Amino acid sequence: MFHLVLFGPPGSGKGTQSVRVAEKFNLVHISTGDIFRREIREKTHLGVKVQGIIERGELVSDELLIEIMESTLNQHPEVAGFVFDGFPRTLRQASDLDALLDKRGGEVDMVVALEVDDREIINRLLKRAEIEGRKDDTREVIENRIAVYNSQTQPLIEYYKKRGQFTPVNGIGSIDEIFASICRVVEYYL
Ligand code: AMP
Repeated sequence: MFHLVLFGPPGSGKGTQSVRVAEKFNLVHISTGDIFRREIREKTHLGVKVQGIIERGELVSDELLIEIMESTLNQHPEVAGFVFDGFPRTLRQASDLDALLDKRGGEVDMVVALEVDDREIINRLLKRAEIEGRKDDTREVIENRIAVYNSQTQPLIEYYKKRGQFTPVNGIGSIDEIFASICRVVEYYL
């Protein structure tokens, strides 16, 4: 079973690329952001609980994340593997994921990180706000999400580098170019 984390700041193109990578390598795509947005749309108990947090650009609690992750993995018992998009986002989530995969006889095999600078990210997210109208794509919330990424998520780079699993990929270029770079590193690993 292959477990790939597609890592990067908000607006780095993780979502777009994860879908394509999952399709190409026959993996199940898990986007925690998509899961939350669906729950909010359907006004479920979970959706109501996380709506305010997401609209402010803050992080949902680690406890909730690992619970969601465990039940999502359990929904796909016989698959070739998973692409994690937007998860893990804290050191606690990373170690919880390790424990969860270990229990299932697997591990994080590879972390592919899309590298994009802050200015480009802000521009992309503002553009996405116009197109998709996501509530967490206003300038103020975008800046908060980047600050949250820098303080809580960036430490994961060291965490995965130490284990030799961190593979940076240039996140600037056309969608096809970036996809080709990701495929190259994944194929090299496989
Ligand atoms: P995304 O679409 O990945 O940018 O996620 C949208 C929002 O959902 C984030 O800004 C967080 O509020 C929440 N979220 C998604 N994934 C996580 C996670 N792994 N940990 C905490 N909050 C998350």
